[in-house]
Amino acid sequence: MYEIKKMLAFLIILILLFSIASCSHQNEEAPSSMPSELPYEPEEVSDDLPVEKIVLTDNADITIPVFDLGKFTVSDEAEVIERERFIIYIEEDVVYLKELPDFIEMAMNLMEEETGLSFYTEGYAPEKLKINVVKNSNPFATKSEITVEQMDMHIYDRGYAFVFFHELSHVLQMRNGETDSMVFMEGYAKFNETKYTDMILKPNIVRSFRLHSYFNRDDSVFRDPEQCFRSFKGHEAYLYGVRIFTYIDEKYGYGKISEIIKIMGERYKEEGASTDQLVQIIKSVTSEEFFSEFRSWYRENKDIFDGSDVLDLTEYKTFNYIPLYDMSQKTYAPHVIEYSDYCILDFTDGFRYLQHFDYEIKGIYGIAESTGKHALEFYNYRDELIKIINLDNEMLDICTDGAVKIKITGDGSEIYIGPDR
Ligand SMILES: [Zn+2]
Repeated sequence: MYEIKKMLAFLIILILLFSIASCSHQNEEAPSSMPSELPYEPEEVSDDLPVEKIVLTDNADITIPVFDLGKFTVSDEAEVIERERFIIYIEEDVVYLKELPDFIEMAMNLMEEETGLSFYTEGYAPEKLKINVVKNSNPFATKSEITVEQMDMHIYDRGYAFVFFHELSHVLQMRNGETDSMVFMEGYAKFNETKYTDMILKPNIVRSFRLHSYFNRDDSVFRDPEQCFRSFKGHEAYLYGVRIFTYIDEKYGYGKISEIIKIMGERYKEEGASTDQLVQIIKSVTSEEFFSEFRSWYRENKDIFDGSDVLDLTEYKTFNYIPLYDMSQKTYAPHVIEYSDYCILDFTDGFRYLQHFDYEIKGIYGIAESTGKHALEFYNYRDELIKIINLDNEMLDICTDGAVKIKITGDGSEIYIGPDR
């Protein structure tokens, strides 16, 4: 089971940032039917705007031309991609990354190396792992397969890799040692999704992957951490689990987790370890006082889970903004952005993706908010500057027809870019 997208749905505002949402001040206009000779009118011009940098293109396209799919491809009919260790089944008319098979190969190898566990344990070798890529489904895993949806394909832009690491963790754990403890299963998958995403994305620019801070059961944990381990379900199991695994990793090392899984597999091969049996195993390989020692550690280290939803572009300058898109939600995850000197938000790949679903893309629509000073330069698909908006400790509408990219420069204070409301 996999919850992060559901969590996102609750935690962020689910509004379209792309063209089908219209800006309030443009409601009367129909940008797509405007004659193409009309120049853009720079708006919200403040006094210190670097005016000489404004370029008004003569024949600015109001409607962005349809891009090719770039690094994505689309399955015309159901496709099967077979490799030595897995088979990928792709539903008809699904947009997926061309490099998906290579990514899966890399992910499985990396996880085996790090854990010392194998995806091909007795009883499963040589059966290949099935990977189903469907149009719409919450991601999930069983012992023999994982299922992900089209939306999970944006694995390098940036970090949907974590969906695969999460589901592959379930498979790896179940094939090596089973348990009915939801805190253990989801905590393991959630701990791993951050661990491995951090490893392959250097730096891991979307710190919000962790989303660990939305946990309000600390009182119960401080009262009886073992009881919480036994009883938490759903959302709480994920967030408590990741705390337990972070502690084991820090205190005993990552190898200790594999040791626990192997013991479950050896002792309870057929039926899997009950939560009671698992608790005994954990204590036997760590400490009889495991849970009270965890509690002391957690009191001291609680703060490390208070991540904020920040996109860190101080080192990594360009961010490909890809929508979260399926039949039930269409949005971008809005972010507070940190940068130094400059950063670039590139919507090009995201627009390609949306165009495949027959959306007519007209530009970047949204709002920006900052406590400091920033200049937002908007570029069209030909990389021509078409508008500059200066932001000085305020919130502004940034809707810009024809734009596919924003370059931000300024005083380095945090800036928020999000869908318009
Ligand atoms: Zn899960």
